[in-house]
Amino acid sequence: MKDFVAKRKELLREEVQKNNLTPTLAIIQVGANPASNSYVKGKLKDCAELGIEGQHINLPADISQQKLDNTMMYLSANPDVHGIIVQLPVPEHLHVKNELINKEKDVDGFRVDSPYTPCTPLGIMMFLKEKGISLVGKNVVIIGRSEIVGRPLAKLCLDAHATVTVCHSKTDNLQFYTQHADVIIVAVGKEKLLTRDMIGDNKPVVIDVGINRNAEGKLCGDCDYANLLDVCSYVSPVPGGVGLLTRLALMENTVKASKQ
Ligand code: NDP
Repeated sequence: MKDFVAKRKELLREEVQKNNLTPTLAIIQVGANPASNSYVKGKLKDCAELGIEGQHINLPADISQQKLDNTMMYLSANPDVHGIIVQLPVPEHLHVKNELINKEKDVDGFRVDSPYTPCTPLGIMMFLKEKGISLVGKNVVIIGRSEIVGRPLAKLCLDAHATVTVCHSKTDNLQFYTQHADVIIVAVGKEKLLTRDMIGDNKPVVIDVGINRNAEGKLCGDCDYANLLDVCSYVSPVPGGVGLLTRLALMENTVKASKQ
């Protein structure tokens, strides 16, 4: 996965240079949640590597809804800014109104009418394509039905001609679905949700979107990674997996936005 991301980043960097682009991505962060600090740092690093101008707008944690809205509207109206994202989560008293971001600048793809595909689903589809994994006629099981991962991913998989099952916290007998899957995509946020006994005989590809901290404080995904390796044809690691794909897709969308 790391090689694929490095290769795509090199191509993007060349595209920015060749076309004399100065893509600008504004990242709004409210407060200083430690996980958000690290995600924003990663995104700014990617920007710097690719010749994208990353602007970090760090607002105080107690900012009012009106001031957050104004910041989004101001950036949305600024012609020098091509992409705008709000790093989640924001403090509980706030609500992120994605409709305040001009749809052409919604590089996270969160508006229903955004011309961009949401980053995590886009990154996963790019990766499957690169690995030569066709979804045509395949049984894809997605665990998690959020607006930013599970649901848009289900649509992309359907568009790629897979037979798609979306599971969630109310699904009875989750194991029944996973045991019959050719591809399992887990996006829940629970350590070791997908275990060895839930895998069938057809060596599925497993894509782990989850990000958790284990008892030792180390980053881990939703899969019991070490115990799945020999019963699956591929298991994406955490860290060093889908997170990298999500960041890559954000950069792809930002470069695309700067060409509009
Ligand atoms: P949400 O909390 O919005 O959604 C979680 C989903 O998991 C819900 O649909 C929920 O069901 C389902 N769920 C919860 N418990 C179970 C269970 N026991 N069995 C089956 N399904 C269950 O999370 P997100 O989609 O935003 O994120 C999911 C994970 O992915 C998180 O760990 C997040 O940090 C990570 N993430 C990683 C990214 C990356 O780039 N690597 C990007 C985005 C997210 P229900 O709808 O019924 O509540």
